[in-house]
Amino acid sequence: MTDEFDDSFSETDAFDIAPLRLTVDLAALADNWRDMARRSGKARASAVVKADAYGMGIEDCGATLYHAGARDFFVATVAEGATLRPHAPEARIFVLSGIWPGQESQVFNHDLVPVIASEEQLSFWMATLAERGDHPFALHVDTGFNRLGLPLEDALFLADDTTRPASFDPVLVLSHLACADTPSSPMNRAQLESFRQVSAAFEGIESSLSASAGIFMGPEYHFDLTRPGIALYGGEAVNDMANPMRPVAKAEARIIQIRDAAEGQTVSYGGTFILKRPSRLAIASVGYADGYQRSLSGSGIPLREMGYGGAYGFINGYEVPVAGRVTMDLTIFDVTDVPPKAIRAGDYIELFGPNVPVDEVARAAGTIGYEILTGLGLRYERQYLIDDE
Ligand SMILES: *Cc1c(COP(=O)(O)O)cnc(C)c1O
Repeated sequence: MTDEFDDSFSETDAFDIAPLRLTVDLAALADNWRDMARRSGKARASAVVKADAYGMGIEDCGATLYHAGARDFFVATVAEGATLRPHAPEARIFVLSGIWPGQESQVFNHDLVPVIASEEQLSFWMATLAERGDHPFALHVDTGFNRLGLPLEDALFLADDTTRPASFDPVLVLSHLACADTPSSPMNRAQLESFRQVSAAFEGIESSLSASAGIFMGPEYHFDLTRPGIALYGGEAVNDMANPMRPVAKAEARIIQIRDAAEGQTVSYGGTFILKRPSRLAIASVGYADGYQRSLSGSGIPLREMGYGGAYGFINGYEVPVAGRVTMDLTIFDVTDVPPKAIRAGDYIELFGPNVPVDEVARAAGTIGYEILTGLGLRYERQYLIDDE
């Protein structure tokens, strides 16, 4: 059993003593993608791997998703696309930020598909195609987000414009929902109606509207291609709905020291956290420099005057709250309720993972799981659990 466990790690030694470690369960990632593909019904599911695959590592995650069957990928930047390319050799890699002058060679050499989002990008891209020959691209249309994309009217005009260049032949038209995490929002239907016009105007060209949350809204939102991101990594896509995805990431911090402290003493910077009983404190090697945000503190931030209410960790079956302010490299957990035999210096506290949903940590910080995952920082020793199917 022990041997099997060790075999699944590639760098057991470094991982075993790392102050801070992240385990990425690639089998769960692949499962989540298959789940999203199934929920996408007749539509094909892509995989969104921007921001280093939501902090999980674009190379390992990209390869896993490719192996699971994904053949369409979305990244945010040309550089991300170049990093992904060797791990997804036959895939279409869409670049959501499009292309700037100077990136032509990278886009052509790595065979990336720029998502053209503005008039300026479009005219530059048409000129580029005239010079270099054909290359696939996608067109982003704004249907109410007011972020990237051609205005709806301009896109509809373009669809019927007989004077447009012959090289105007997008492989995909896409738009993005602003309120899909809130299915009851009327914004969803309004955007759906607008996107239906786009999809009809660009008849014969594949269309894509939904990210993770939109996939849960049912078939009319699916079109030809869906774009799941957060759900692949186990995060919550839809508010107030039980999260059906498997957790992918487990973050753990090593306990450097355990100390006893007396009732009435204070903990951490500012002395804002006052112990109400004789306590045991575990000092763990994670801080806000690691994306364990200061707003997770058990006290000492405005709106959270006294007591707990911040994040909690998990060790040997016990939930342990953050005590006092999170500092740059260290966080203090109250482990008074953990039996002394169940904890010692050198043990690891789970920050999020199977026992602490990342979205619960996010809520404690007043943010979303996306931000916790993409903000993990550079000090994590990463370990990938290999798909054992
Ligand atoms: C980030 C992003 C996605 C993926 O969104 P999730 O909510 O993570 O599923 C899809 N499409 C676009 C345009 C995006 O920016």
